[in-house]
Amino acid sequence: MAFSQSNPANYRSGFTALIGRPNVGKSTLVNCLVGEKIAITSPVAQTTRNRLRAILTTPEAQIIFLDTPGIHKPHHLLGERLVKSAKSAIGEVDIIVLILEGSERPGRGDLFIVNLLKRQELPVLVVLNKWDLVPENESTKFFSRYQELLSETNWPIYLCSAITGHGSKDVIKAISEILPNGPQLYPQDMVCDQPERILLAELIREQVLLHTREEVPHSVAVKIDRVEEIQSNKNNKNAQNRIGVLATVFVERKSQKGILIGKGGSMLKTIGKAARLQMQILINGPVYLELFVKISPGWRSKPSRLAELGYLES
Ligand code: GDP
Ligand code: MG
Repeated sequence: MAFSQSNPANYRSGFTALIGRPNVGKSTLVNCLVGEKIAITSPVAQTTRNRLRAILTTPEAQIIFLDTPGIHKPHHLLGERLVKSAKSAIGEVDIIVLILEGSERPGRGDLFIVNLLKRQELPVLVVLNKWDLVPENESTKFFSRYQELLSETNWPIYLCSAITGHGSKDVIKAISEILPNGPQLYPQDMVCDQPERILLAELIREQVLLHTREEVPHSVAVKIDRVEEIQSNKNNKNAQNRIGVLATVFVERKSQKGILIGKGGSMLKTIGKAARLQMQILINGPVYLELFVKISPGWRSKPSRLAELGYLES
């Protein structure tokens, strides 16, 4: 979709950080607001390791979203980096969108984030997400719990469902109105600034987490070894070239490797197929995917390993 800036003098642009506990729906909300599958989402917390920039261009404004990992208490090196990256995002943006899980009671983690945000000067806008899960006759009760949590602030509160899209237009409008005047910073048809390789790796990791759940926890990393175009059959003019993707999934223990591969390779096959289908949507063409599994003990605590896998400090 292409449109020109309706009134360049009044055009607004800038950066927005989505901040919130793991699993509140930050990535889902980015996807919902921008309208394409960019950030990976998962029922398992803490899947967003690399900071993604998703870009929404409207006739009135260009909003660049930084999807930050959830703020939580660090357990080990990887956890610390997640927190650091979330905190540093606060220093880089024009506005903060605080995402809270409206369908749950506010918890200590929410209080921690609210207090963190109170100590800084940027405008904050609150989204009570997952509002689709709140029974209608209880919405006043749910809402008042959050009013209490936010009582010492004047942050506007928006009810939203990142799944149904309900309320998302109001969030976009509110963000657009707060952003400073400025030109489009990215081409208007660009929706994401991450290299495709990282997106491909994230799609594989998403399927690993979805299919293995607790058995193969967050000690999994994916490295894309090669992406190449495979010439299609010359005799068939209509055949599209396929994109070949070679990737390695790293786990920490032998037992996890076993689970990931499954009986006769069945689990890896299922994961590979699901990831391939997602990649085909992203690339918009046929994909051939080959997955390998390797054991790399303790990769989470080794800085060099983290760097190699792309989890660099930003
Ligand atoms: P993040 O860790 O904050 O980025 O959370 P995700 O975006 O990965 O979402 C975590 C889980 O919550 C996923 O299973 C989502 O499908 C689910 N989720 C996110 N937003 C909503 C919502 O508005 N309603 C419902 N019912 N589920 C949601
Ligand atoms: Mg996320």
